[in-house]
Amino acid sequence: MPEDIHPQSTNQQLVENPFLGEPVVRTPSRMNRREGVTDCPFCADIAAGAWPSDRETWVRPNDFPPLQPPLGECFVLLYARAHNLPFAAMSLDQVVAVVDLWREVYLDLSQRYACVMTFENSGTAIGQTQYHPHGQTYGIAFLPPIIERELAHVTQHLTTTGACLFCRTLAEEAAGARVVVDTPHWLGFIPAWARYPYEVQIYARQHISDISTLEPGGAAARELAEILLRIVRGWNTLVEGAMPYFLALHQLADPRYHLHLELLPVGRAPGKLKYAASAETAFGLWLNDALPEVKAQELRDAMP
Ligand SMILES: [Zn+2]
Ligand SMILES: [Zn+2]
Ligand SMILES: [Zn+2]
Repeated sequence: MPEDIHPQSTNQQLVENPFLGEPVVRTPSRMNRREGVTDCPFCADIAAGAWPSDRETWVRPNDFPPLQPPLGECFVLLYARAHNLPFAAMSLDQVVAVVDLWREVYLDLSQRYACVMTFENSGTAIGQTQYHPHGQTYGIAFLPPIIERELAHVTQHLTTTGACLFCRTLAEEAAGARVVVDTPHWLGFIPAWARYPYEVQIYARQHISDISTLEPGGAAARELAEILLRIVRGWNTLVEGAMPYFLALHQLADPRYHLHLELLPVGRAPGKLKYAASAETAFGLWLNDALPEVKAQELRDAMP
């Protein structure tokens, strides 16, 4: 029988899957979190004066945190004061402020935790429960399995070749058929190993491990904001609506690691979703029904 390796409380238990060597967080209190309610808790924060009036963006504690100290801390990253503002409708300056917010929360949580998970779940099809524009961040005391596996492969590549696997991939993908966006600070491409048809990974061109060195409002932050807007607007054109997507910042305070964003759009055509079904969920084997080169061309053509 698997043992609880960190039975902190009835609301939060870290359990190890002994067959995969992977942790699972049990957090039964989250079953009762607000979903699809008409009263927005973040607009209520504005009304109550809790959201500082001089701030357009704001980091707020998560009312239903899946992780609590010492395992972690969870926050909601509020992107704008306006409630009805889809990401694709935000201005460039507003998205630049979001990138700055990602950095602000990283600088804080990376002091106390091994990893900072900054992400966004966008779209009701994939479980978004609040509609005020926002993302989330967890400071977490251990490495999530995918970051751990990436670090292991990067370390192995560094040991055998002396080079960064991300930097090598960046050099190989640049100017190739899978490139979607190409700017002085970033390269965005649909990787050969894409899981979703329109998946885009955005690599920092410089070998930086995390977002901490991105100057607030500087050129790299502005470029990233513009790239994100163009990609999301392009996706929306392709699915003739709002593309549901996961967005994740992969970063780590470890010089071997390389900052990148993974953008995982769940739509594959108007009205059609790519499900993580049995092959993916029960076997971990991803099936991509598309060729990355073809989808990259479609996305480039659809982007404003
Ligand atoms: Zn709201
Ligand atoms: Zn690198
Ligand atoms: Zn990654």
